[in-house]
Order: sequence, then C-alpha cells, then structure tokens
Amino acid sequence: MIDTTTAIELVLLHGSINTKFLEVDLSDGLDYVLAKDVISEIDMPPFRQSAMDGYALHIGDDVFYTIVGEVKAGDNNNLTLNKGEAVRIFTGAPVPVTANTVVMQEKVIVDGSKITIEESLIVNTNIRPQGEQIKAGGIAMNKGTTIKGVHIGFLASLGVTKITVCEKPSIAILVTGNELVSPGAKLCYGEIYESNGAMLTAVLKELGYKNTLVLIIKDDYDKTKNVLKAAIKRHDIVIVTGGVSVGDYDYVGKAFNAIGVQEIFYKVKQKPGKPLFFGMKEGTSIFGLPGNPAAALSCFYIYVYPLLKKYEGAEHMKLPSIFLPLLSDYSVKGTQAQFLKARIEDAGIMILGGQSSAMIRAFGDANALVCLPKNSTEIKKGQNVKTILLPTK
Ligand code: AMP
Ligand code: MG
Repeated sequence: MIDTTTAIELVLLHGSINTKFLEVDLSDGLDYVLAKDVISEIDMPPFRQSAMDGYALHIGDDVFYTIVGEVKAGDNNNLTLNKGEAVRIFTGAPVPVTANTVVMQEKVIVDGSKITIEESLIVNTNIRPQGEQIKAGGIAMNKGTTIKGVHIGFLASLGVTKITVCEKPSIAILVTGNELVSPGAKLCYGEIYESNGAMLTAVLKELGYKNTLVLIIKDDYDKTKNVLKAAIKRHDIVIVTGGVSVGDYDYVGKAFNAIGVQEIFYKVKQKPGKPLFFGMKEGTSIFGLPGNPAAALSCFYIYVYPLLKKYEGAEHMKLPSIFLPLLSDYSVKGTQAQFLKARIEDAGIMILGGQSSAMIRAFGDANALVCLPKNSTEIKKGQNVKTILLPTK
C-alpha cells in the first residue's frame, strides 16, 4: 500500500495529457485552460488616465490656477496647458499631455475660473501611466491559466475576442452495484438510490467539465468487463465508483485485470478511500473510487481533480492548501492519513460531524478538507492543520 503523497504523484506522472487545442470566443472561455500565452496588442491603459475627479494641471509656482477647459471620460481633446493652468477632469479621462498632476476635487477651492489648491503638489499624482498594467507586446496571461470570470474581464479590457484553450476531456462515470436504483423509480427493500453518478456529474459541471456520461453497471463480471472496455475506448478519463473492494461481488478490480488495464496503484494508506485504484489503458486514465459517496467525493477532489488539470496543461494542478488553527480539540480515529470534511470559519478551521464515508450530508457544509498525516492522535485546539480548499464554495 502506498501513501497519499505518492499516490497523487503517480496520478500526475502517469495520467493522460491532452494536446488538442481549440479556439473559442472569450465569452465561452470560462473554466478552460489557456493553451497559449495571450499577448496584449495594446498598452493598458492605452493613454495617461485620470484616476480621480478633479483638476489636471501643469504644476506652477503658485497655489492659484486658471481653468482653461474640461476633459471627461471618452473625450479625445488634448488641451495644451501652460504653467499655472488647469483643466477640469474626471476619472478615466485622458490627462492632457502637458499636465503633470491631477488634484482631487476635494482638495481644491473653486472661485469662478480660478482654483486654489489646498495641498502641496507632486508630479504624476492621480495619473495612471500609459501601459501601467501591461504594454503592447507583453504577455497578458500565461498558458496554463484556468480562465475564471476575472480573467475574462482582464482580457476583454485588452480587446481580446478569441483565446486558444485545451480541449476538455470526455469523462465516463460508471457506477456499480445491484442495489442501485435511479431516483424516480420505486425503492424496494434492499435497494438505495444511485447518487454518485448525479453527484460527480454535477461536481464536474461546477468545474467546467460538461462532456460526461453516467452508466449504471450491475455487479456482474462480464457486464463490468464489457462496459469498461467500451468506455475506455470512447473516453479520455473513466471514473468507476464501487466494486473496487475485496467483496465476493466486487468485480471492478477483476475486470480491470482481465481487460488489460495497467495498474499504477491499488490501495492507499488513507481514510476514507483505502481501496482506491488508478490505472491506464490505451491512453485513457482510469480511476476506481470507493462506492461510499463521501469517500468517492473526497477521492475525487484529492486524486481526480489534479489529473483533470494536468490533462488540460493547467499550471496549478492540485487544489490549494493552507495551514489553519483548529477551532476545537479532535481525537483521531485510526492510524491512516485522514481527509476530514471541515469548514473554514473566521478564526480557523472546524472539523465537521458526520465523517462516515457513507454520509454525504456533512460535505454540503464543508468548504475544505483537513488533511491529517498518518499516526495523528489527539489534536488540540489552536494547532495548525493542513487544510485543502474545496472549489466554488
Ligand atoms: P462498494 O464500494 O461497492 O462496496 O460500495 C460501498 C457502499 O457505497 C455501499 O453501501 C453501496 O451501496 C454504496 N454505493 C455504491 N455505489 C453507490 C452509488 N453510486 N450511489 C450511492 N451509494 C453507492
Ligand atoms: Mg458495490
């Protein structure tokens, strides 16, 4: 059995990469990873811009200035100022080339066409220099950036309309179990509603992966083999849930073996999700996640998420983590490394109740996973613990 760090490294070492590029409209770029650097075609700001409502002036020897005109945002008049002259100016307006400072209106007393300045003047105050954010020809955004709303905003400010991104993987989610019934059907004794498929589809969608398909497989060796074989042929990533353990009716491991999936690892020293499998076949990355929904979801965030990011060439693959002080004592059950559903509060991190692998409810309140190393015992309030930040919360 390997430890969690080695398991993540192996996923990132062996897991598949995509090299297919796609040009999309900037407005459709959300959640894609940039395949090429974006070069700015313009200076931003494109001209010396006033950062305040006030008066642009050419600093003279006096505190009195004569107003000789007005420039508002969008104007393209370039007034010529001599020493002792000022123009009324507004935020975002082009500062006349001959002005060398902008005084905010709150610091000015106006008397007809004259103003008196109530502060000492410093050259280039309240002026955003041309090209302050980026110069034409400079790299506006690096390849590997996962595009979020803020990135779309910045690129739009540079006039970008198209970006080149990496194609997203097509993902098959195969859920296994005789007991599984789709929501909407009648639940008979011994059956449960299938939820991993719906959950993983939705979580993937939240992250921008919409090319997904869910199939329910009965606990049947031949069916498991056939569905797996077909899924591996058609998809870039296959996620199986359930059936990877050692029970008599757990056919997934046997089927992986029979159809020639190359095992990269099976079983990780962790709780939850000990019977985690990762393998490769024909360039497709294959995960066997535990069937218990909470265990499946934490394994998804820890192991599948980084592979999705690697596949797309993203700069940051793993979810970010920080150390935060624990808000109350916690006594650890078991000696394995643990991933615990937790919530970041203002003062620190709180480990939530309902940690069982079968209990998905507490995950709804979680915005983080606390990651405790193996052989942790009693953890005291105030002690710093590694906290993995979950996306979109
Ligand atoms: P397994 O890993 O197949 O032994 O399943 C472990 C537990 O997770 C069992 O209680 C299963 O009924 C449950 N389980 C497995 N797959 C799903 C699923 N797709 N949705 C909800 N529960 C599941
Ligand atoms: Mg099962």
